[in-house]
Order: sequence, then structure tokens, then C-alpha cells
Amino acid sequence: MTSGAAPRLFVVSAPSGTGKTTIVRRLVDGHPGISLAVSHTTRPARAKERQQRDYFFVDDGEFDAIRRGDGFLEHAEVFGNRYGTSRREVEGKLASGRTVILEIDWQGAAQVRAAMPEAETVFLLPPSHAELQRRLEGRNSDSPEVLARRLSEAREDVGKWRDFHYVLINDDLEATCQRMSRILDGRGDRYSTSGERRRERVEQLIASGGW
Ligand code: 5GP
Repeated sequence: MTSGAAPRLFVVSAPSGTGKTTIVRRLVDGHPGISLAVSHTTRPARAKERQQRDYFFVDDGEFDAIRRGDGFLEHAEVFGNRYGTSRREVEGKLASGRTVILEIDWQGAAQVRAAMPEAETVFLLPPSHAELQRRLEGRNSDSPEVLARRLSEAREDVGKWRDFHYVLINDDLEATCQRMSRILDGRGDRYSTSGERRRERVEQLIASGGW
């Protein structure tokens, strides 16, 4: 990261299983000036997840109390659970001078774009639908019903790519981390401003991925 630059807000969205968490964690670990906003969720914690590190795990009542108090910058229901980014989390981290990354779904990304037009949005895609299925099955953390739902919702999610400033296809972890790093440094190519050829290329890649 360029030192002395104004703190910035990035939104990273991807169908679940794209590798988004791994990529974002690597970037945050490699850049002390970048911080990941910890979301609230009503979903139960997975085996290796920790309260306040991975999520603020809350019940419906606590979630509603924050929502009623207008405490969420954005919130959405994903796979039957509720997720939200608190204003306090984002404002606190931006005020400390750090660049903040929100790792949220496309519904939340749309709300953040509306509330904070300066936010920069990145959409990550897995190389193909078949590869996504392989990754989700390998992760082995969901019931067959949840897995089937994640796969079918991924198809809908992928169609949202045009709403984002940047689109990256995660076919190689190292390369994707490097491309994300360039975006965070302000050196990425916005697909929306870099011309029709790039848009066509993304469209071709998506079509060839069986989406
Ligand atoms: P998971 O349950 O696998 O951790 O996350 C499921 C989905 O919820 C992912 O697409 C993730 O990006 C999204 N998500 C996580 N936190 C938030 C949040 O605060 N707001 C929104 N809108 N989506 C979130």
C-alpha cells in the first residue's frame, strides 16, 4: 500500500467457495494498513471460527436491536441467515486511518454503493461452475441441502458482475492476490473504464465457465 494515502473502503463479493476469504485474509495479513471489517451474523459458528475474529455471532434479537437502531451500514439475508456490517466497525477502522475491506454478498455491496459512492467494489469469480462445486464439496462444511442451495444461488450471483468496478477470475490464488493488491494500491483496471474488449473477455470467460 502507498503510505500516507487516504483510507479507502473496498467491497469484495463472490459466490461462496470462490476463495474470497483466503484471498482477503492474505491481503490483510500482508498489509498492516488494511483491515477487514468483521460482520455480524445469525449463522452458527463453524468449527474453526471464533467469536469477534471471524464474525460477531449474534442471535436474531441482537441482530434486530442493531438494525432498529440504524446500526448497520448494510445487511442482508444469505442462505437463510442474516448478515450485516455495523457502521461502528467500518467508521472505527476508517477513522484509525486504515483501508477497510468488506467481504459481503452482492445485496450488501449494492447497499454500500448507494450509501458510500466512494467505495470501490471487486467481484471475484471461480473459474467455472464445475470447479466451484468441487471446492464446496471439498470444504465439507455444509449439509447437502445447503450445498445445493449455494450452487444454485451462485448462478444468480455471477450475473451481478456488471455492477462492480473490478472483476477477477480466481483461477490461480497467487495471481489473484497480486491483482487484488494492485487494485488496493489504486493500480487496477476497472473493467467499466477499460473498454469493451475487456468486458467481452469477461463475458467469454463466464460463458466458458458453464454459468
Ligand atoms: P458464510 O456463511 O460462508 O461465511 O458467508 C455467506 C455469504 O454471506 C458470503 O457471500 C459472505 O460474503 C456473505 N456475508 C458475510 N458477511 C456479510 C455481511 O456483513 N453482509 C452481507 N450482505 N453479506 C455478508
